[in-house]
Amino acid sequence: MLHSKLPGVGTTIFTRMSALAARHGALNLSQGFPDFDPPRALLEAMARQVCDGDNQYAPMTGLPGLREQIAAQLQLYRGVSCDPDTEVTVVPGATEGIFCAITAVIQRGDEVILLDPCYDSYEPAIDLAGGRAVHVPLLAPDFRVDWERVAAAVGQRTRMIIVNSPHNPSGSILDAADLQELQRLAEQHDLLVVSDEVYEHLVFDGRPHHSVLQYPALRKRSFAVFSFGKTFSVTGWKTGYCVAPPALTEELRKVHQFVSFVAVTPVQAALQEFMAAQPDFPASLAAFYQAKRDLFCDALAGSGFGVIPSAGTYFQLLDYSDIADTADVALAQAWTREHGIAAIPVSVFYRDPPEQRYLRFCFAKGDDILREAARTLCAI
Ligand code: PMP
Ligand code: GLN
Repeated sequence: MLHSKLPGVGTTIFTRMSALAARHGALNLSQGFPDFDPPRALLEAMARQVCDGDNQYAPMTGLPGLREQIAAQLQLYRGVSCDPDTEVTVVPGATEGIFCAITAVIQRGDEVILLDPCYDSYEPAIDLAGGRAVHVPLLAPDFRVDWERVAAAVGQRTRMIIVNSPHNPSGSILDAADLQELQRLAEQHDLLVVSDEVYEHLVFDGRPHHSVLQYPALRKRSFAVFSFGKTFSVTGWKTGYCVAPPALTEELRKVHQFVSFVAVTPVQAALQEFMAAQPDFPASLAAFYQAKRDLFCDALAGSGFGVIPSAGTYFQLLDYSDIADTADVALAQAWTREHGIAAIPVSVFYRDPPEQRYLRFCFAKGDDILREAARTLCAI
């Protein structure tokens, strides 16, 4: 008899909504990915690396030259230094890095604090490790962390907290005071931290990104996870990295070497080449995506949607409570079929969805698509 290890898990909402959008020829602002090309120089580097470069296994920890570029960028953008050999591991996507970090340190019966709404891959990894997720809600409309509530959720068995800033799906960000609270709490209760920072360069309105790596007492106990997919518009390349102190990195690598062993060699070589040639590229992202956020939000002015412009990520939440009274999953499906526009229902990111009415729209799309999407939404 087969006993599922993940009985509550089905196919992810991202896969389902993208499939539904394709079936109905709808504008797909659901699953998060750009509909435009990555930088040309990166694509050319990739073509060169495939045709003329190395197509066999890379070192298990990642190409040394790429890990050096990662360390250089951490210095440039976050002002932190790290040892590329003992603290940086290249992984086939942030999802794999997060899975390996959780698997490496969570023991049967350990509790892990998640802040809902949260990204869908965290809890299954905790479950498979035999741990237990403890959910603390972020409250609408600003989706900030209530640190008192988090502290109240910490118990004898709490081993880890997972944070995500900029935050998918809400677009909120953690500020310095949040990081200090996190640091205090983690030290006081000897917690490990997984910090999902895949949208680190997509922070708007001149505000800075705060990384756990910039807080020494936090850094000592954190796995910080990043994704090239977001930074270089190559989500399909599924490559990212994890930065953690040597002892944590050693444990992460023990798992990584048996989950995937390595990330794809020519992809790593192409990223290395591009990062060396254009170290300033990530600095252009905030303005680029902020303009898209503004175009989309401005075009919705006067509509019945509640719009609080996103502080980070390439997602915008819209509060539709003045427009429809349907639950969000049914509404997202109905609008895809009937109005030709697909979004992600936010309730699926919660264990106990509160009474609220939000859809998440990805604005990593061409300006014409964003205008058409806003026109469609205004007409609903
Ligand atoms: N964390 C968050 C918050 C994300 O939105 C994503 C995007 N898919 C990931 C992790 C996973 O990134 P990757 O595609 O590099 O695995
Ligand atoms: N992170 C992307 C999103 O939030 C989707 C990734 C996936 O499809 N698993 O839309």
